Amino acid sequence: MRRKKNSKRKLELTKMKLFLLCLIVFIMFVGIGRSIGEKLTSKATNGEEKLAENEEKLELERKRKTEKEKEIKNNSEKEIKKEKHNEEKEETKKDTEVVEKDVQAKEIKEEEKPIDQEKEPSNDNKKVAYLTFDDGPSVVVTPQILDILDNCNVKATFFVIGSLAEQNSDLIKREYNSGHAIGNHTYSHNYKYIYGSVNNLLSDIDKCENVLKGILGDDFHSAAFRFPGGSFGQKKQPFKDVLKNKGIGYVDWNALNGDAEGHNIPKDRLVQRLVQTTQGKNKVVILMHDAGAKKTTAQALPEIINYFKNQGYEFKTIDQEALNGF
Ligand SMILES: [Zn+2]
Repeated sequence: MRRKKNSKRKLELTKMKLFLLCLIVFIMFVGIGRSIGEKLTSKATNGEEKLAENEEKLELERKRKTEKEKEIKNNSEKEIKKEKHNEEKEETKKDTEVVEKDVQAKEIKEEEKPIDQEKEPSNDNKKVAYLTFDDGPSVVVTPQILDILDNCNVKATFFVIGSLAEQNSDLIKREYNSGHAIGNHTYSHNYKYIYGSVNNLLSDIDKCENVLKGILGDDFHSAAFRFPGGSFGQKKQPFKDVLKNKGIGYVDWNALNGDAEGHNIPKDRLVQRLVQTTQGKNKVVILMHDAGAKKTTAQALPEIINYFKNQGYEFKTIDQEALNGF
């Protein structure tokens, strides 16, 4: 019995020991497990942190890249804009040059064009022809024209350039003494200068007038002024206003022989242009030139005078009466 009891106790003791051992082992496992878990967790956290860091770095890298790309894009856009601007500037420059050239060409052509829109100088039915010669006097052409006018007993008006009058004062005297009218056509005939400002124009007109007074006497007054290139167009308006205020009469033309359209134009063509541009007009102011290069102008003149005579025109010079009629 006793043995039985002892062995039962021993068994229970062994069971207890086993239980305790198991408990210790369990606790140990739990501890190890926890520490491993912690380590794993921390590792994972570290990993996550690193991952996050990496991602941040990547993000920063990406941002930098994008900014750089933007900068490059902006720069290239700026470059393009700059180029475009430069091109536009160049274009504008070219355009301006073209416009300037056009204006110059137009100004030169103005003398060549018949001024159809010009109103008739007077409204009565009497036919009057005013022959006018610009840009002289010249050594060869002017005397030929004066000879023809003398032979036909016709009076004309010479719009002379002051600097040429200075060089050919004898021709000015001959024009004047033959009963022709002398008009002022500026001293220099330099478009750039005279149309550079109102003062330039006035001083160039004065200079021409003083040259003529020097040749013909202080009492001389030019019959009228003629704008180089004519007074047509809005651009000339300020100049016209000043001349009106100063009492300086000016006259354009409403017919021409076309001798400004080139050198040595065949005389038949000059006559033809004159016939064309005078059609249906009772009062005609005809633009011609006695400049050195206009040799065919003198050749065409006898035929032109005959045409007007046959058409019943009376020849007159530009004078105050004529100016008032315009
Ligand atoms: Zn002229």
